[in-house]
Amino acid sequence: MTMQSLAIAAYLVAALLFIMSLAGLSRHESAKQGIWFGIVGMALALVATIGLAVDGGMSTTGVVLMIAALVVGAAIGLWRARVVQMTGMPELIALLHSFVGLAAVLVGWAAYYLVEAVGDAQTEISDDLLGIHHGEVIVGVFIGAVTFTGSIVAFLKLSARIDSKPLMLPGKNALNIGALVLFVALTVWFVITPSVWILVAGTVLALALGWHLVASIGGGDMPVVVSMLNSYSGWAAAASGFLLGNNLLIVTGALVGSSGAYLSYIMCQAMNRSFISVIAGGFGIEAATSDDTDYGEHREISAEETAALLADASSVIITPGYGMAVAQAQYPVAELTRILREKGVDVRGGIHPVAGRLPGHMNVLLAEAKVPYDIVLEMDEINDDFPSTDVVLVIGANDTVNPAAEEDPGSPIAGMPVLRGWEATDVIVFKRSVAVGDAGVQNPLFFRPNTSMLFGDAKVRVEDILKAL
Ligand code: NDP
Repeated sequence: MTMQSLAIAAYLVAALLFIMSLAGLSRHESAKQGIWFGIVGMALALVATIGLAVDGGMSTTGVVLMIAALVVGAAIGLWRARVVQMTGMPELIALLHSFVGLAAVLVGWAAYYLVEAVGDAQTEISDDLLGIHHGEVIVGVFIGAVTFTGSIVAFLKLSARIDSKPLMLPGKNALNIGALVLFVALTVWFVITPSVWILVAGTVLALALGWHLVASIGGGDMPVVVSMLNSYSGWAAAASGFLLGNNLLIVTGALVGSSGAYLSYIMCQAMNRSFISVIAGGFGIEAATSDDTDYGEHREISAEETAALLADASSVIITPGYGMAVAQAQYPVAELTRILREKGVDVRGGIHPVAGRLPGHMNVLLAEAKVPYDIVLEMDEINDDFPSTDVVLVIGANDTVNPAAEEDPGSPIAGMPVLRGWEATDVIVFKRSVAVGDAGVQNPLFFRPNTSMLFGDAKVRVEDILKAL
C-alpha cells in the first residue's frame, strides 16, 4: 500500500472519529469519551499529514520545521489549557478562532504565490480549473480575514480590554452590505485578472468587515458571536482544505462550520434574537436607552436565616449563573445539594442555555463538582415547576432570571426566555450588590416582595450556610 492511500485511509478514520467526537460531546455521560475520539482523530491526522509530506519529497529542513512548529504549538496549547480559568474560556476560544482565520489567510496567500503569481504556463492546474483556483484563493482569504479580525474584537470585548457596547456607525447596515457587494465585484475581477492588488484590496476589505461586524454586536449577544465565529473558523478551514487539496480539512471545516452555525441558531432561539440580525452584525438592533425606573427597596437576608429557610423547605431549585463561576462556588453548592438531599429535600438545578459565559458553562462546573447529572435540568424542563417550589437559590445569576424579559416589552432583553424563579414561594439571590449583569439591564427580581438578597461572594456565603446547617 502506498503512503498516499494509507494517508487517505487515515484521513477517513480521523473524519469518522471527529463525527463520533461531536456525537459524544452532545451528552454529559459521553462527553469525556467524545474528547478522546477527538484527540485520537487529531493525532492520526497529524501523523498522516507528516507522513504525506515526507513521502511527497519534502526536504529534511521542511520536515524538521513542521515538527518543531507542532511541538511548540502543542506546548503552548497544553500550557494555556492548564492555566485558563473557566471564566476565561470564551476569550481563549475567541483567540483560538483568530488563529484559524489567520492560517486561512496565509494559506490563501501562499496558494496565490504558488499558482497565480508564477503565471498560467508554469502551473500544474489546467486552464479550465484555473478560474476556480482564483475564486478559491480570494474567497478563502476573505472568510479567513473576516474570522481573524472578528475573533480579535470578540477576544478584546470578552476580556474587557475594550467596551462591550455595540459600535453604532451611521449607516452600519449599508456599510456591511456595501462591503459584501464590493467583495463580489472584486472576486469576479480577480477571477478574470488575478492581480496581487485585487487580492490586497479583498484582504483589507475583509479585515475591516470582520472588525465592524463584531464591533457592532452588543455584550448581550456575545454568546452567539463566539459560536458564530466558531462556525466562520470552520468555513475558513474548509476553504484552506480546498486550496491545499486536503479532504480531511474540508470535512473537518464543514463539521465545525455547520455545527457552529446550528449552535448559534439554537442560542439565538434561547435568547429570542434574530439569527440573521446577529450574524449580520447586529442588523436592525437599536442602541439601548438609559433606565431611570424606580424599582423600590430590596430586602436583605443572612446566611443563618437562609439556612433556616432551607431546613424547613421540601423543594429547592438552584439557578446558577456567571457569578457562581467567578466565585468558584460550585464545590460548596455541590456540598449543600448533598446535605439537603440527605435531609430529604428535593433539590434540583435549573440551567439557562446562556447562563455563564459559554454554552454549557454551568453544566461543566456542576459536573466538575460532582452534582448528579439527573438533578441538573434544562430551563424548559424545569420552568413550570417554580410555582410549586419552596425556595429558589439564585447563585450569581442575573440576566437569566430577569422577569423584565417577560414583563417589560421595552427592555433590551424583552422576549428572551428566562428561568421564572420569582414564581416560587421564596427567592434568595446570592451576589455582591444589586449591580447589573452582562446585558447591562437592571433586574426587578431583586426588589420583589418574595426576594431576599444575600450579599457577598457566592462561595463564602454558601460556605456560611453550610456552617449554619
Ligand atoms: P450575568 O452576567 O447576568 O450576572 C452575573 C452576576 O454575577 C452579576 O450580576 C454579578 O453581580 C454576580 N457576581 C459576579 N461575581 C460574583 C461573586 N464572586 N459572587 C457572587 N456573585 C457574583 O449572569 P447570567 O449567568 O445570569 O447570564 C449570562 C449573561 O452572559 C447573559 O446576558 C448572556 O447573554 C451573557 N453571555 C453568555 C454567554 C454564554 O455562552 N453562556 C457568553 C457571553 C455572554 P455583582 O457584581 O453584584 O456580584
